[in-house]
Amino acid sequence: MKIRCWGARGSIPVSGPEYLRYGGDTACVEIRSKNDEILILDAGTGVRALGCELARQNRHSLTLLFSHYHWDHIQGLPFFKPLYNPKTELRLGGSRGAQRDLKRVLARALRPPFFPVPLVKVPATVSVLAFKDETLQVDSLRVRRIAASHPNGCAGFRIEEDGRSIVYLTDNELSLRHRGGLGYAEYVAFCQGADLLIHDTEYTPEEYSQRRGWGHSHYAEAALLAREAGVKTLGLFHHNQERTDEAQDKLLECCRGLLSSPGDPACLALFQGFSLDLSG
Ligand SMILES: [Zn+2]
Ligand SMILES: [Zn+2]
Repeated sequence: MKIRCWGARGSIPVSGPEYLRYGGDTACVEIRSKNDEILILDAGTGVRALGCELARQNRHSLTLLFSHYHWDHIQGLPFFKPLYNPKTELRLGGSRGAQRDLKRVLARALRPPFFPVPLVKVPATVSVLAFKDETLQVDSLRVRRIAASHPNGCAGFRIEEDGRSIVYLTDNELSLRHRGGLGYAEYVAFCQGADLLIHDTEYTPEEYSQRRGWGHSHYAEAALLAREAGVKTLGLFHHNQERTDEAQDKLLECCRGLLSSPGDPACLALFQGFSLDLSG
């Protein structure tokens, strides 16, 4: 499978010369199976550019999973070009709590007066997928879902193909159990041995002490999770809106400093345009 990041920012999109390298668009990650089937994780503002690319490639069969429905994870959806093409078949999935009325939840945001085109009137065929025992098969990709610890609920996903695996665990406060969230040990088990763990590292430990309960983690606890779960690479994600490129470099360097023992995971920070090929 191949992965590409279209938005790594958290909370709100940003722009300006100080954000050019990591990018300003909010959460959106594309995964392609070995047969080139498309799975999209979250529709933050990054999904707009992905939609343009999919339109160029004439791709009409798409699966989109939402971690949750905070603005930074849905805000690109109204500007996702495939929605306006009648050839598009868009299958949606989401966190456990909203799975049954996913279209109704999204329709609350995609309707007047917030947006002129109601979701029920878009030309694309939009359907909702059902997880069975918290798993879903998308072509050759096996998707497992877990509840994250976040206000209003959130889901994490583990995607596997031919023994390779990616865990997408954004908006997850590791040291505080929000309603519906799980204990630390369960996240360690879920991430076990992953090739790439994409985890929320919104804060530094110092910032976190002032933001406890806001639903996000700091890089030191994500680093510990990555080490204890034996993942190969930790990918920092959901960058704070005030984290300039320079500050993000510094945060990454600090995180790498914590993972410098032999056998520790590698560490990188996701950015718009980041890609990784896990085939073969
Ligand atoms: Zn978020
Ligand atoms: Zn959130």
